Amino acid sequence: MTDSCSILVVDDEPESLALLTGILTAEGYQVRAADSGKLALASVAAWLPQLVLLDIRMPGIDGFAVCRRLKACEETRDIPLMFISAASEMEERVEGLALGAVDYITKPFRREELLARVRTHLELGRLRAQLEKQVSQRTIELHATIERLRESEERFRNMADTAPVMIWVTGPDKGFTFFNKTWLDFTGCPLDQELGDGWAEAVHPEDLKHCFASFSSSFDARQDFQIEFRLRRADGEYRWVLCSGVPRFEPGGVFAGYIGSDIDITDQQRAEATLRRNLDEIAHLNRVAAMGELTASIAHELNQPLAAILSNAQAANRFLDGESPDLAEVQKCLTDIVADDKRAGEVIKRLRSPLKKDEFQAAVVDLNEVVGDVIRLIRNDALLRGASVTFEPCPDLSPVLGDRIQVHQVVLNLIVNGLHATADRRSGDRWVLVRTAEAEGGGVLLTVRDSGKGIAESDLARVFEPFFTTKQEGLGVGLSISRSIVQAHGGRIWAENSAGSGAIFSCVWPVAQQTVATAAR
Ligand code: ADP
Repeated sequence: MTDSCSILVVDDEPESLALLTGILTAEGYQVRAADSGKLALASVAAWLPQLVLLDIRMPGIDGFAVCRRLKACEETRDIPLMFISAASEMEERVEGLALGAVDYITKPFRREELLARVRTHLELGRLRAQLEKQVSQRTIELHATIERLRESEERFRNMADTAPVMIWVTGPDKGFTFFNKTWLDFTGCPLDQELGDGWAEAVHPEDLKHCFASFSSSFDARQDFQIEFRLRRADGEYRWVLCSGVPRFEPGGVFAGYIGSDIDITDQQRAEATLRRNLDEIAHLNRVAAMGELTASIAHELNQPLAAILSNAQAANRFLDGESPDLAEVQKCLTDIVADDKRAGEVIKRLRSPLKKDEFQAAVVDLNEVVGDVIRLIRNDALLRGASVTFEPCPDLSPVLGDRIQVHQVVLNLIVNGLHATADRRSGDRWVLVRTAEAEGGGVLLTVRDSGKGIAESDLARVFEPFFTTKQEGLGVGLSISRSIVQAHGGRIWAENSAGSGAIFSCVWPVAQQTVATAAR
């Protein structure tokens, strides 16, 4: 170790210089000797030692002056410096240490003491150099980390500012520390006005209490939350927003506050309300249709007992006519009349049971799933005998916003109509092909094609009219209800004949605008 350590010994007394040089060289140190301050400075300028042993009293530039010059120069400032002097005056010692020397040895010294001190200061010097290297290395790393953090914050800010949703961030004390550009554009307020709890000024006064209470309780429990409230837009209109927040934690798991997003759901709410209203109308239409069906079947069922009552009454009349009325037969006729009347009564009783009111709900619906359900539902139906229903689903189909039961009804109507249309075909030629696809220009497309005769040109424009039917037993309401349902969902439906034969019914359903609850996650 010692051979790599270089020491400069400065002393104007030749014996002392030789003694010091001899002791240190014997220990394996690289020693350079200088017998004056001037030479010492020249030596340091040419070759940086790791330790300087410096006599104080020298003619010309004395030890203190050498020390001052070395400490004044950046390159030599950190070289440890030990004063050696015959004098033992306290002032000199104090001055030497005040100038920045690390130690002070008085002549005569003991060899062991000198070596021990030299070793100690060389080691301290080495440790100090090592420490400085580490510190500067760490400083470089720290700067790099700060730079990376700055870049990542810049990236986050850019991303957040270009995101189509409003994004905000809070500190652990519930105070808001960031709003993206989308938020600021929405409220029309500058950032410094929104920070802290300034944002609350734009919340509708009626929603403020509930908004703060939900936010606070979720925040204290560190739970995700979703709150709906009205927020004033720059033009003064209050808009309904869905605000979602999630707690965020620093790498060590320390709670750092919340990050969240707000989405303007006013249009979606309005669309849902319209859909709900339209669906109610369809429910009404459905009930009217159901009533029609019920009335028809009741009329049919009443017809039988009423006809029987009439014929029994006529028979009884006949048995009473003439000379010897057959009272036993009359009795039989009357018994039958009573029985038929009871049957008619049963049928009428059914009329009194109220029809169930349908309930509707708008939800995100997977059309592929609905088609699958319908095909499962009819798989044992007599209508399917000798026919096939094939489904070609579009993978990863966008979901539609709608009432599942109503969508189900449209799909069922179209498939059943297709099967009806093929009824007079031979077994192998009876098929219905259902397909789903992403529609050109947006939306989800459902097509139902069949191998029937198709629709007469003159009927094409009329098939969706209420009560239009070409079937003997038909009611003519299936397609009109289907059209109302599709239109209520904001979609469209049309019929055409395929180039080969058979009809194709197509409908396009608008894609559900899914609310991204965790947009900012
Ligand atoms: P219904 O089936 O009770 O007649 P719809 O409203 O479902 O009532 O259908 C109306 C009419 O549209 C049918 O009577 C028929 O003339 C025509 N139609 C419906 N689907 C098809 C089809 N797949 N092929 C040919 N004609 C069809």
